[in-house]
Amino acid sequence: MTESVQSEATDSPTIPSPLPWQAEQWQRLGAQWRAGRCPHALLFSGQPGLGKRRFAEAFAALTLCEQPRDGLACGACRGCRLWQAGSHPDFLRVEPEKPGGPLKVEQIRQLGGFVGRTSGREGARVVWLAPAEAMNVNAANALLKNLEEPSASVIFLLVTDSPSGLLPTIRSRCQSVAFPAPAGEPALRWLHEGGLDDRAARRALVLAGGAPLLAARLAEPESRELREQFMADLTALAQGGASSVTLAGRWEAPGDAADLGQLLQFWQHWVSQMLRARSCDLTADEQIMGLLQRLPGSGSESLRPLFGFNDQLLRARQSLVGGSNPNKRLLIEELLIRWAKLFK
Ligand SMILES: [Zn+2]
Repeated sequence: MTESVQSEATDSPTIPSPLPWQAEQWQRLGAQWRAGRCPHALLFSGQPGLGKRRFAEAFAALTLCEQPRDGLACGACRGCRLWQAGSHPDFLRVEPEKPGGPLKVEQIRQLGGFVGRTSGREGARVVWLAPAEAMNVNAANALLKNLEEPSASVIFLLVTDSPSGLLPTIRSRCQSVAFPAPAGEPALRWLHEGGLDDRAARRALVLAGGAPLLAARLAEPESRELREQFMADLTALAQGGASSVTLAGRWEAPGDAADLGQLLQFWQHWVSQMLRARSCDLTADEQIMGLLQRLPGSGSESLRPLFGFNDQLLRARQSLVGGSNPNKRLLIEELLIRWAKLFK
């Protein structure tokens, strides 16, 4: 048994640790944990790409470690080896069956068995659940029952990019742990260590709204290629050389390199650059300047439709994360039609 655990563990990722910009949250929670004052439900929230899931994993590993060292899971004890093998009996991971799919009420009901039984050892049992906003009302109500009648040794770690997409009754039963975007320096240093040069790191970080993990993904060639294709299509649409309906079919599900929400984030980034370039008389990159030149009119009055479009993009992004589950095809088609109209 020990042998099989060890041999599996050699192929497994190491014990997760918090990221450099999460030190404050880590110290605070670690102190609560050591003092035996850890709340039975924690809600980790912040924009995508900050490493909240990894933080929650690291914290789970810490609570399951039998001899933590320097405030971190030791990586060597029985608890840590079981964790590395992905077979710790006191850890339960709850996530959608398909990426981007819902967390179903059946999945939440199955928690009952885990929460209700007694641990094989003395210690915590941990439920890791992400993304929490993927629960519909039925699933959320099923979870609420567990949160209302806490079992002493169970800790719920909920992770969300969008706390407003959760039932207020869920939020109020969790201790909130907020993850703001880090200041530039630790994020840039981390991206440099990952192999990005300074210019690429800074560009990606701006595009990612300051979120380092997202920035690292956006700097990958597949992501860059996808943005170039999307920009080319938006430019063709602005020039009257493409159809909104055709493009909506192409972009409603952009593929592995990005989801629709990210695509809209890129789009909004470009629109902001257009607004800045026109209103402050700055020079942006060639494609942005090309689009600006196609906008009818001049002066600040001509920017009003573009501001309106920026608002629509923002609302569309919010609806994608808000749990209202909009029709994606319709959503992007409406945006593309309005985009084309801006240039007429
Ligand atoms: Zn350990």
